[in-house]
Amino acid sequence: MKKLSTTLLLAICTATLTFGQYKLPDLPYKYNALEPYIDSTTMHIHHDFHHATYFANLNKALEKYPELYKKDVLEVIQNISELPADIQTTVRNNGGGVYNHSFFWKIMAAPGTANMSPHMEKVLTDNFGSVDAFKAEFEKAAVGRFGSGWAWLIKDSTGKLRIISTPNQDNPLMAAAEVKGTPILTLDVWEHAYYLKYQNKRAAYAKAFWNVVNWTEVERLYGN
Ligand code: MN
Repeated sequence: MKKLSTTLLLAICTATLTFGQYKLPDLPYKYNALEPYIDSTTMHIHHDFHHATYFANLNKALEKYPELYKKDVLEVIQNISELPADIQTTVRNNGGGVYNHSFFWKIMAAPGTANMSPHMEKVLTDNFGSVDAFKAEFEKAAVGRFGSGWAWLIKDSTGKLRIISTPNQDNPLMAAAEVKGTPILTLDVWEHAYYLKYQNKRAAYAKAFWNVVNWTEVERLYGN
């Protein structure tokens, strides 16, 4: 009897997995890994509720068009104008939320575990004059974004690094982006990302962020 239940359970699990909906990935580290700069409670709420909700809303929007689940999320959000009109806005907001947060988790790491290499220091210096100038410009983009959005370091089509910000859950890979490029670093500046620990002090959050950047991953994304 016990064996039969196990078999049944496995069959149900397999059926669920093959349904093809997008799945919330685990964080690539423990919830408390970024402390004291980003607290465990914020990470729990941010990942388990906010990020999970973007997944749930995206999956719900695509239920009517299940063939879209076969595509990578990025492919779906890069071609929003080609989607059925009734889901374009929902996919832009929630598909953006799905992609941006998955990206954000990966470019962070426990303090001191993925420091900036001399090579990356040179790249940033070549592009912005100095590492400090780069950080100041990035923090300015983060603080200057009115309302909710993201600050980004992107590599444009000529290979040059640029700092931009986007509103809501937009990103520089979307066709609608004012400035397009490949993201190599980002900071979520929605209040849900920092309010518990930093309240209204977004600038303090942006400054603290430097302690948890995964420079190994940023350098990998930068390439050559
Ligand atoms: Mn967020």
